[in-house]
Amino acid sequence: MDEQDVVRQAHSFLNGLDLSNIRDDLGPYLAKVAARVRKENLLPRESGTVAEIKGKTVITVNENESDERQRFTICHELGHKILGLPSSHQHVPQWGYAKRDSNEVFCDIFAAELLMPHEQFKQAARHLEPSLRTIETLMDAFKTSFPATASRFARLADSPCVFVTMESGWVKYAAFSTPLRAMGAKITFKSPIPTESIAAQLRASGSSDYREGYVAQDVWLENWQSGLELNELSRHHASSDITLSLLWFDPEDAPKIEVDRYGRVVAEDDGLQELTGELPWPGSSKRKR
Ligand SMILES: [Zn+2]
Repeated sequence: MDEQDVVRQAHSFLNGLDLSNIRDDLGPYLAKVAARVRKENLLPRESGTVAEIKGKTVITVNENESDERQRFTICHELGHKILGLPSSHQHVPQWGYAKRDSNEVFCDIFAAELLMPHEQFKQAARHLEPSLRTIETLMDAFKTSFPATASRFARLADSPCVFVTMESGWVKYAAFSTPLRAMGAKITFKSPIPTESIAAQLRASGSSDYREGYVAQDVWLENWQSGLELNELSRHHASSDITLSLLWFDPEDAPKIEVDRYGRVVAEDDGLQELTGELPWPGSSKRKR
């Protein structure tokens, strides 16, 4: 199983359901699998479980958590059921992000597909430029968290952008938009947060906060042009040592290149050049500092 399989299974789960009121009521999802939700006074940091009781699926959520968090838990637990993935919640506390196994990540991806249905989200995000205000607008609309919303935004964006997740100072995960992926952009994983990034500066400050700024494109992107700059919107949670960054190009700073799946340049802004193995870059160079 990989991410694409998870997305496909989520789409087939959604197929045929009336999603018009899904931002307020997850009933159609529960009805589809004859599941019911039980709210209980669980321990702090314990979000929920799913169990089969007398032939019925029962999802237990922590009544002390926010409505938004409970909705996420319900959809995550539905992921365990639909994807047939065993839950490892008993063994791995939710705050142990670094130790979360792939089943848990797959269920998070499944939950994101249910909470922010593809067509509705595309519609809501259309014409919105990447910014903190945009992410907050979408968070309010879909009752979702910053990481879930920013990751979804990056993945479905029509412009080049990427959402990076970092834990304990290490780069763990990145969700690319299709246009940025088509440019052949790569981010190095399992490596420390780049020291010149906004994320590293914010984490070093030790505060749980947001910070926005510009960084050189090659601070984040592997083998990338230097000289131009990327927008970086970063958020840090000091208690869990999780750092998140949304990165995007201003339209005039995005290289107009496209690579095929072998990493070869197939199109760029001055027409197709002879393939030399070197990425051709626009000649202009400007900085915003
Ligand atoms: Zn789980």
